[in-house]
Amino acid sequence: MITNILIIGGTSQGNVLGKTLQTQNINYVISYAGRVNIIHSKGLNNRIGGFGGIIKMSVWLKNNKISHVVDASHPFAEQISNNAYEACIISQIPIVRLTRNAWIQTEEDNWQNVNSFQDAKNLLNITNSKIFLAIGRLNIKFFYTFPQHFYLLRMIEELKVKPDFPNYHCLISRGPFNLDDDISLLKKFKIDLIISKNAGGDGAFSKIKAARQLKIPIIMIKRPILPNVKEFIFLDDVLKWLGCYSTDLGV
Ligand code: NAP
Repeated sequence: MITNILIIGGTSQGNVLGKTLQTQNINYVISYAGRVNIIHSKGLNNRIGGFGGIIKMSVWLKNNKISHVVDASHPFAEQISNNAYEACIISQIPIVRLTRNAWIQTEEDNWQNVNSFQDAKNLLNITNSKIFLAIGRLNIKFFYTFPQHFYLLRMIEELKVKPDFPNYHCLISRGPFNLDDDISLLKKFKIDLIISKNAGGDGAFSKIKAARQLKIPIIMIKRPILPNVKEFIFLDDVLKWLGCYSTDLGV
């Protein structure tokens, strides 16, 4: 069977994998959900939009003669990871995950680890705080019940629907972010609490380091449990698994 790889995208790691396969002339397609208007595919061979659930995805895999799937979706993109896993079982296609390590709490960090957005919300029944709500767009609705707080949001593009809390500021900015800027940001908005997903990786880690330095507490939302497939952190290991690793390709 000819190698033809489906990358479940939505992360910079997925894009780097796509770019690497492209350089090596290996057949691949990277799939994006299409949630944002500007897709940073950088000329990669892509498809955009949902597959329509597990069964339709397995049909898509077959019709497109996919030989391998690499799930490089975000660690919090639980649904697509589950769907890809189930579709691969149905279609008998091997699947692995390309991900990043979760952030690890140190002695200098003041984190309260919670299991879900709901659990994070339940901790907010306090007098008014200035909160950096660093959780992306999809789950800010959880926090509408506590309008007494000021919320600082950071999004990669304008929100289509305005949040239903009165006191907020929305920055439009795309990572990777850096420590000095994040320290300035937290000081500028007098942030006294951060709510973050434990996304892991380098791109958004500066806010965690900034909080450490400024001794700002973080409510840290743990990652969801994803299907039990082989996980790789390094691109080289995925390439080896795909059988297309070569040291003279400079990867
Ligand atoms: P999700 O809840 O796991 O998926 C919901 C549905 O969206 C899926 O069932 C699928 O629709 C579609 N979908 C998601 N990712 C897709 C992809 N890469 N290609 C094709 N369809 C996809 O996803 P999410 O959390 O909303 O995230 C959406 C995308 O943004 C993902 O690609 C993810 O990698 C990226 N992202 C997510 C986060 C986050 O915190 N969740 C952060 C950064 C980037 P069908 O059932 O119709 O196939």
